Amino acid sequence: MYLLLVEDDLNLGKALTKLLNTHYRVHWVRDLESARSHLKAADYDVILLDLGLPDGDGVGWLRSLRAANCNTPVLIVTARDALDDRVRGLDTGADDYLVKPFEPEELLARIRVLLRRKSGRAQPKFSVGNLSFDAESHQFYLDGQPVSLTPKEHQILAVLIQAGEKPVSRERLSQQLYGLDQGVDSNTLEVHIHGLRKLLGKERIETVRGFGYKLVAP
Ligand code: CA
Repeated sequence: MYLLLVEDDLNLGKALTKLLNTHYRVHWVRDLESARSHLKAADYDVILLDLGLPDGDGVGWLRSLRAANCNTPVLIVTARDALDDRVRGLDTGADDYLVKPFEPEELLARIRVLLRRKSGRAQPKFSVGNLSFDAESHQFYLDGQPVSLTPKEHQILAVLIQAGEKPVSRERLSQQLYGLDQGVDSNTLEVHIHGLRKLLGKERIETVRGFGYKLVAP
């Protein structure tokens, strides 16, 4: 899961990135111009949007996204006065909003709801053969037993299992790991794939030549 956080407040942005990073891959931008260019370049699962941004108005940007048929779920995160003035009663196309200050757990719960709605599943559970993933608790199970993974392995495997047995490109996996800022180092990706194969069995992650990887049932 890849989140775009649009927040100009330095302390809040840092705190949110730290919080969200434990569950998701997060890209944090501090103005609308960066938000626009990142959205063009990558596929995000949820956008967290502050309203008062240095180069414009989050609501205006959101309207333009919806007008352009961008359906990425948007969670507005804003201060009470901004919410009253700008959002309430306006048809902004936001999926949800959260008023600052808020509890971290509340934010995580709202994100889970949006992700669940997006995937169109009431129960966010995915499985390929005897490997399953509970997106709500972020836990993988192999033959019903919890599997412990490094954070990077977890991110890769979450993308693979949500694709079912369809192949996922190397670019998408690298983006999940490192975002857009760093160059794609396929060797590093391969190190994590190697780790996952050791854990799950070599045959469970198939290399799709010239493209990427896919999970296979045993
Ligand atoms: Ca702001």
